[in-house]
Amino acid sequence: MKEPMEKIDFRANVQQASPAVIAATRNSTRTALRIRGDVVHAFGEERWQRLRQAGHDLRLHSLTHLDRYLPLLEERVTAAGGRVHWAADAAEANGIVREIAARHNVRSIVKSKSMVSEEIGLNHSLEAAGLRVYETDLGEFIVQLAGQKPSHITAPALHMTKEEIARLFREKLKVDARPVPEELTELARQRLRPEFLSAGMGISGGNFLIAETGTLLIVTNEGNGRLSTTLPPVHVAIVGIEKVIPDWESAAVLLKLLARSTSGSKITAYNTCITGTREAGPQEFHLVLLDNGRSRILADPIARETLLCIRCGACMNICPVYNNVGGHAYGGVYQGPIGAMLTPQLMGTRLAGGLPFASTLCGACAEFCPVMIPIPEILLHLRHRFVEGDACEGPSVPGLLKAAAWAGRRVLGSPSLYRLGGRMARTLQAPFRRGDWLPSLPAPLNRWTAARPFPAFRGDFRSWWGKRTAAGSAVEPGTGRGARP
Ligand code: SF4
Repeated sequence: MKEPMEKIDFRANVQQASPAVIAATRNSTRTALRIRGDVVHAFGEERWQRLRQAGHDLRLHSLTHLDRYLPLLEERVTAAGGRVHWAADAAEANGIVREIAARHNVRSIVKSKSMVSEEIGLNHSLEAAGLRVYETDLGEFIVQLAGQKPSHITAPALHMTKEEIARLFREKLKVDARPVPEELTELARQRLRPEFLSAGMGISGGNFLIAETGTLLIVTNEGNGRLSTTLPPVHVAIVGIEKVIPDWESAAVLLKLLARSTSGSKITAYNTCITGTREAGPQEFHLVLLDNGRSRILADPIARETLLCIRCGACMNICPVYNNVGGHAYGGVYQGPIGAMLTPQLMGTRLAGGLPFASTLCGACAEFCPVMIPIPEILLHLRHRFVEGDACEGPSVPGLLKAAAWAGRRVLGSPSLYRLGGRMARTLQAPFRRGDWLPSLPAPLNRWTAARPFPAFRGDFRSWWGKRTAAGSAVEPGTGRGARP
């Protein structure tokens, strides 16, 4: 059985984003980009590109050999004293975790940051069963207190200012909180420390699963992951099946890419490696391997590269759309370009079909992606799937949009229709034209002009292009690329 999901209305969500949220988002992403830029520059551009290529190749190799690496992983985890569970979807994964908690009579749980647990609505499922769940990553702790969703995959509370967080702590924790980051961190630490000591279960995600040794690798900057996975008597890790990699050599490459792209550091502060159970740690280690639509994504030869993602967040930091609408506009668990690609594939186009359109296709995300995911190509492909009626979800595109796409293709493919269309546009625009601009157009084009004017149709593109090519502009045949006028 699937967990119920709500339809994402990106357009409506965008209207909710306040100027304060946008300003806080831009401020944080600007800093993240500057730090990343410095560390990549120090690494050397050519070396960095080679490392990215290596990261891409080994992630693609892992993804196309899951049939080899997942069974090997299961064998090694089991041999080390852990237990592997396979979950086809969110409901199954939540059921497994609830069942383990019930068997150990668990009342409270500490969690380190896990996007997959957000994806399956784990907190909601556990709280509905009467369990107390404490997020222990500082950003997750803040958004949990605020009753919000994360707005960034690596910095969940990036949309909030220190003043807002201090207000939140005063209201919810009843403490004297000042807007000083170090003091706020200390308050969160004091609040969480007893929970680490008394929790009956620790839950984590995982950045990578190393098949050759059956090791779960968790990368954090706060140390909360280490406390959540070692202090409670039971540790449950929930990880997507795509996170498996062959060996430690692969991990060495990916960790270099991840640390630089996420936090602009050479290495992340805490790299926790867990192989089965340990004498001094939890008595039980459970690994829940989650599919939840990933096998379906894998079957699409273009879209499958979405699963190469190592959740660094760099594509979000550079994305002009993300920086103008904030993370909550994407509705789901994943935001920015990765959200625009992944969420519709996980939820289906019927529920999230608008997200692939939430992109200018400028390509900055692909240039920043440490594992070279061709994000614009995948978004275009998903738009195409959406317009054609996604095979998994059935037709979902409004007839008007389909008709417009069909008409556009016909007009752009025929010089005579193109000329006729240009003449018609020049005539029809007359009542709306103000100088060289169309500041206000009727519906549905007013969606565009509500935000910015549209340039008036001049109807001289073909003659301008003819003159330009006759003047000998260096245009590469068939590409349209050449010197700018
Ligand atoms: S798509 Fe690439 S840049 Fe974006 S989060 Fe994933 S790995 Fe990072």
